[in-house]
Amino acid sequence: MLQPVGVGHKTLADYTHLVGRPLIEEINELAAELKGLKVLHLSATAFGGGVSEILYTLVPLMRDVGIEAEWQVIIGREEFFNATKLMHNALQGNPLDLSPSEWRTWEEYNEMNAQTLDEGWDVIIVHDPQPLAMRRHVPDKAKKWIWRCHIDLSTPHPPTIERCVPYIEEYDGAVFHLQEYVPDSITTDGVPLHICPPAIDPLSPKNMALSPEDAAFVCDQFGVDVDRPLICQVSRFDPWKDPLGVIDAYRLVNQDMPEVQLALVGSMATDDPEGWEFFNSTLEYAQGDPDIKILNNLNNVGSIEVNAFQSQAEVVIQKSTREGFGLTVSEALWKARPFIGGDVGGIPLQVQDGTTGYLVSSAEECADRSLKILREPDLGKQLGRAGKEHVRKHFLTPRLLRDWLGIFKGLQ
Ligand code: UDP
Repeated sequence: MLQPVGVGHKTLADYTHLVGRPLIEEINELAAELKGLKVLHLSATAFGGGVSEILYTLVPLMRDVGIEAEWQVIIGREEFFNATKLMHNALQGNPLDLSPSEWRTWEEYNEMNAQTLDEGWDVIIVHDPQPLAMRRHVPDKAKKWIWRCHIDLSTPHPPTIERCVPYIEEYDGAVFHLQEYVPDSITTDGVPLHICPPAIDPLSPKNMALSPEDAAFVCDQFGVDVDRPLICQVSRFDPWKDPLGVIDAYRLVNQDMPEVQLALVGSMATDDPEGWEFFNSTLEYAQGDPDIKILNNLNNVGSIEVNAFQSQAEVVIQKSTREGFGLTVSEALWKARPFIGGDVGGIPLQVQDGTTGYLVSSAEECADRSLKILREPDLGKQLGRAGKEHVRKHFLTPRLLRDWLGIFKGLQ
């Protein structure tokens, strides 16, 4: 059985002072024409990673403006998630395709989940490749189907993307974060394409304003010395997020500034079997350095704690080597933190190098920029302020809601 996800209640009007009245009015006008539309979001997990983060806000806001939105999570066992993790990596460019039996496993779980789907939807939005094949089995259960891709498909492993394209082309639309992420093999002749980057919720516990004292209080509980500088990266334990590169950068900074500390905060997603293995490799790499805190959700690190670490850090890093969008980037910028990110994927969309943060391509560059920020607090403040305004304009959930309503309108 597909699992319905319970989401709280949110009110669009509460966001007016953050995004401005014109956007709220535009949303209300669009929504007036779409009242009662039955929309289902299907995703692979309700916990961990960017997709669930987005849906916990987008779904309640869709409901608030009159869309009958639901969110359900597909069921899968380890064999399915092992296959879909391989698929995710291959679609991001890792040259290893699924074996014939792994492809069969993916198909079988998609068919099984499709059979338990309710009918009568106006629009079903399928998030990411895990449930991509469901539509083929039950196309009549919704009037329209949209595939929402959250990963960077610009340089996929050819056999893996070739296998996916026929499924994608059966949809009534495909949505990507950036034009560059659309693989050459998908064209507008095959499927209508939409470009819209994701967004963060400025009022969620993860992003709401936390006083410096409260942030320090929370970080102190995890053993951080709140009187010494802190560098922090928040992300899943995944090689593409490069936590080992962050440790390398920290060690370089540490040579010039021995008082600096590092926190690597990462949740373990239920659909990510590799997570634990890589978590352990990261622990090993830190070699027991007491100034490196490696924390995950099993240490009780939830949204408020992520907020506290991002708010407390003098420098927030997201040193990814591949990144679909990187919600953590906007999360840090929204808190007006000086930010350093890998020059890949969706990070440059959020970080204008030298204006709203720094973009780097190596541990050395990352260390160099960190030291610059740590030594020049005024520079950090300036970058942080500019970063926050950039996020306010482009990456808060009401803008994403507006984009989705526009897509629904185009389907009518
Ligand atoms: N996250 C979290 N706790 C953690 C690590 C990550 O809540 O310990 C959240 C993070 O704040 C962000 C999301 O998980 O909201 C990750 O989204 P992102 O787009 O950065 O990366 P993804 O995991 O989707 O690749």
